[in-house]
Amino acid sequence: MIHPTLPLDGFAAPRLVRANRNGPVLHATPLVQADDVLGLNLTRGCGHGCAFCSVRAAPKYPHGEAVLFTNTLDLLRDELAVLKPRAVHLSPASDPFPPLAPVQEMAAEAVAMLAAHGVEAWLMTRGEPLPSVLDAIARHTATVRFTVALPTLSPASSRLLEAGAATPERRLALLESLRERGIPVQVAIDPLVPGMNDTPETLGPLLDALAARGVKSVTAGYLFLRQGIAERMKAELPADVAASILDAFARGPVLTPPGLSAARFLPRARRQRGYATLISLAARRGLNVTVSAVTNPDFAPPRAMVGGPGLREMAAARLTATP
Ligand code: SF4
Repeated sequence: MIHPTLPLDGFAAPRLVRANRNGPVLHATPLVQADDVLGLNLTRGCGHGCAFCSVRAAPKYPHGEAVLFTNTLDLLRDELAVLKPRAVHLSPASDPFPPLAPVQEMAAEAVAMLAAHGVEAWLMTRGEPLPSVLDAIARHTATVRFTVALPTLSPASSRLLEAGAATPERRLALLESLRERGIPVQVAIDPLVPGMNDTPETLGPLLDALAARGVKSVTAGYLFLRQGIAERMKAELPADVAASILDAFARGPVLTPPGLSAARFLPRARRQRGYATLISLAARRGLNVTVSAVTNPDFAPPRAMVGGPGLREMAAARLTATP
């Protein structure tokens, strides 16, 4: 079912496919650098169609489909009896709020189940949750951390980068809906794309809009490239736009973030300059910026593993890392 008010504007909504999941639901996720935070993917495939998405660039990605795992909640209940994570990230390899009501409803049920076990739910979306889903999530504000990914206010840039996601205007409205319901929210300016959304002219209005909606902190990270991502961008973006973005990476380093495959990053000095611009603009508006350690492995200190195997190691050993 398609969210009736979500304007897909010509972008085809994903086809919902239902399937049973083979294997466990909770898994280690390199996107969160904390040993007691696990990931749970509700679907395989997302439908938002982001040109920069590293998951979409994978060879077996189900383009045009979102495969909803129907036995997820049963499995989650069983696993929570054994594993006791501090938090679960929904969903690291897909969006918990695509324009498919059954997926959104399952996300709300997962939040409720995690809350009943005293486990935080970390939600991140480029989508538009249904009001009824937000109402259900609002019953668990004490255990919910909500992040809205919003890389740009420009409808044209958003359409190029995140063709099937909610428009920037609708994501701003989502910030207000979350605030009205008392759900704490932060914003991820993600990804920063060189020359497209990292200039003072593009960042200033975005930060103004966020500050006006009571946002106090943002996270940010630059785009990174792998061969599959670069090929998708060349295929899906206008040729001059793709060429300009890819050129900026030409002399950038290939780095391997913890737990992830190697990728090409912008030159370090270029990233530092971009973050400095963002931090300075944000500070003038009273916003705090956290730079992503995952997308800047050459900035981050190595992650210390203390003591014996933690939850992530247990999960990694016992569970598959794919949805
Ligand atoms: S919303 Fe996230 S998972 Fe979905 S296509 Fe975009 S980047 Fe990929």
